[in-house]
Amino acid sequence: MTPAGIVVAGAGQAGFQLAASLREGGFRDPITLVGDEAALPYQRPPLSKAYLAGKAEQDGLFLRQPGFFAEHAITHRPGIRAVAIDRAGRCLRLSDGQDLAYDHLVIATGARNRPLPVPGADLAGVRQLRGLADADALRADLAAARAIVVVGAGFIGLEFAAVAAGRGLPVTVIEAAERPMARAVSPEMGDYFRGAQEAMGVRFAFGAGVTAVLGRDGRAAGVALADGRELPADLVLVGIGVLPNRELAVEAGLPAGDGVRVDAFLATPDPAVSAIGDCARFPSPFARGLTADGTVRIESVQNAIDQGRCLAARLNGKPAAYGALPWFWSDQGPHKLQIAGLSGPGDAGVVRGSGQAFSVFRFRDGALSAVESVDRAGDHMIARRLLAAGTPLTPGQAADPDFDLKALALQRP
Ligand code: FAD
Ligand code: NAP
Repeated sequence: MTPAGIVVAGAGQAGFQLAASLREGGFRDPITLVGDEAALPYQRPPLSKAYLAGKAEQDGLFLRQPGFFAEHAITHRPGIRAVAIDRAGRCLRLSDGQDLAYDHLVIATGARNRPLPVPGADLAGVRQLRGLADADALRADLAAARAIVVVGAGFIGLEFAAVAAGRGLPVTVIEAAERPMARAVSPEMGDYFRGAQEAMGVRFAFGAGVTAVLGRDGRAAGVALADGRELPADLVLVGIGVLPNRELAVEAGLPAGDGVRVDAFLATPDPAVSAIGDCARFPSPFARGLTADGTVRIESVQNAIDQGRCLAARLNGKPAAYGALPWFWSDQGPHKLQIAGLSGPGDAGVVRGSGQAFSVFRFRDGALSAVESVDRAGDHMIARRLLAAGTPLTPGQAADPDFDLKALALQRP
């Protein structure tokens, strides 16, 4: 009998990586990638950076050219949605009515943007940024916009604001917290990026909530804030975080809260179903002391790629627990933020370096938890080694400019 092989719901960064790594590792059975977007699998980071700024073209976004899929016997089904899992019958129901049999199913459905829950959020001119179609629409909007409001000073909001301000457009960022990236980075780094964004011409309203998007002739004309202020805007970009696409799992009776629950091997309780990428919640050695149960859901390219590789190894008969070090980056105008590890708001921080190039070393329960670097790529690479190896470092050593961090990182255990 012909094996049904591996079916992947979601043809994004994680799903694509899984398929490519399966073939690299010698997997011979069929692989089918089902994706509800029209395009070939592509990378999202440039959508809020070079591609948005018109400095990169669409071809450069694709993870592989079309020939790759045929050469590697990977069936890519674009524009098709996975709508239900029949776990007993081991098949995936598709939006075109077809039932696709599987030996192993991988949920790699990513995340979607959290909607702005206020009146007027559906007006023309109110946008979000998740996919290629959103980025194309925003590129066109930017060419015509006169006043921009960004809701949310997270990664999307700040990267978008930097691009818009770089074109000389007036931009105001509205943020519920008291500084940018308040959950993701230390107060020192948040304050630095506030200054860097302001130097680019971006204005901020912190501790502010949007109560409505105001319209004129069916289009956004401004936003109303909880403190009574009204800001003019013909383009409103909403970047207030994401929600995991977990519905397939929930409806199939698989555990899923903030993400599809998997174990250290990225397996759900059903041995024929796994989950990876933005949609998966998993135990991480780097989340100890950070979350109540030591599990996290990570939204990053590194995590999507490394989970794709880890699961491919298991499905090729080489199981290993997922323990890759999380790392992230964000480009905002001329500044590059790099983060290694996972920190929480309670983690202490010490600064190494000064001025426009420095790092904040974060410590949780006395141990190094994360390192945030701006324009100090060397610190970032050293931090990745230290954190991955669990090499002990004290706050005093981190802050001492004469302490040789590189030598410590290169030490053999
Ligand atoms: P995705 O890449 O989102 O892929 C999931 C795919 O599944 C999507 O195509 C989705 O449409 C599809 N899908 C969902 N439901 C179904 C269904 N039922 N049936 C079929 N298909 C379905 N990370 C970084 O580390 N650095 C960055 O600089 C960075 N920049 C970013 C910029 C932007 C604008 C965005 C949106 C994200 C950025 N990220 C960045 C995050 C990173 O892109 C994601 O973490 C990564 O794409 C996650 O991969 P994934 O495969 O889990 O999800
Ligand atoms: P995000 O980084 O989680 O930031 C969302 C921000 O909006 C947070 O600061 C949040 O504050 C704030 N917020 C939430 N509700 C709000 C409200 N009603 N009004 C005003 N502010 C509000 O998410 P994102 O920027 O939307 O990014 C979406 C996804 O793209 C994520 O997966 C992200 O990782 C990814 N992405 C990553 C990068 C990168 O890594 N460089 C770049 C772009 C996008 P609280 O935290 O207090 O809720």
